[in-house]
Order: sequence, then C-alpha cells, then structure tokens
Amino acid sequence: MSDEVSKAKAAAGTQQQEETIFSKIVDRKIPADIIYEDDTSLAFRDVTPQAPIHFLVIPKKPLARLSLAEDVDTPLLGHLMSVARKVAKQEKLDNGFRIVINDGPDGAQSVYHLHIHVMGGRQMGWPPG
Ligand code: 5GP
Repeated sequence: MSDEVSKAKAAAGTQQQEETIFSKIVDRKIPADIIYEDDTSLAFRDVTPQAPIHFLVIPKKPLARLSLAEDVDTPLLGHLMSVARKVAKQEKLDNGFRIVINDGPDGAQSVYHLHIHVMGGRQMGWPPG
C-alpha cells in the first residue's frame, strides 16, 4: 500500500471533523502558497507535489467530500471547476493538465475538505493507481 493510501485510510475515521488543515489555510491559521482567492474559493500549491505544477482548488465552506455535496452546492461546484481552469491558465498549463477529486476511503481521500487537484507540466499516464 502506498504512503498516500495509508494516510488516506488513517484519515477516513476523521471525516466528520469540521476544522481540517484546509479550513486552517482558509482562516490563515497555517501558511500556504496561495495562488488564487475569491469570496468562495481558494487555490494553493500542494505541499507534496506529484507533478511540476500541482495545486488544489477548495471551497472556503468546509464541505467534507464531493459525495456529500447537495443540489444547493451545484453553482459552487461549477465555480470551483471554473477556478481550476483559470488558475491552470495562470500557471501556463497550455498543453493540458489532469484534474482529480479523491472521494472517501476507496478514493484515497486524506483531507476531508473537498479539493480539486490540478496537476500539469509533465505527461500524465493512464490509468491512475
Ligand atoms: P487527498 O489525498 O485528500 O486527495 O489530497 C490531499 C492533498 O493535500 C495531498 O496531495 C497533500 O499533499 C496535500 N496536503 C496535505 N496537507 C497539506 C498542507 O498542510 N498544505 C498543503 N499545501 N497541502 C497539503
């Protein structure tokens, strides 16, 4: 089992927890390399990048996982996708990029605050592990 998957399994028990590390980044309680911000979302560089460019787009609202989103969240989910696109352009990922959302234990989610991974700057493989 990879280190990331072990971390995700360990985190699965904490998925109801409200204040995650990402809420702390939103509240500026811990530092992050923030590359975009607006009223409802934030984008910052992943601390363990899996590609030359790897950033996360999150809602400021502490929504734990995609599968717990509700119909009322649909505009926010669309907005996050739009932010991912804009920041990818800002990061000059003109040759393409990979977007990933890990959901829950089987999806190897380790931080229970919804986030879109955006990775680029190298050739991606398929299928993912
Ligand atoms: P997940 O496995 O939940 O989809 O992804 C969580 C991501 O958050 C991982 O890629 C991990 O490297 C990143 N991460 C975890 N803690 C921190 C942190 O404190 N700061 C930043 N910038 N990224 C983090």
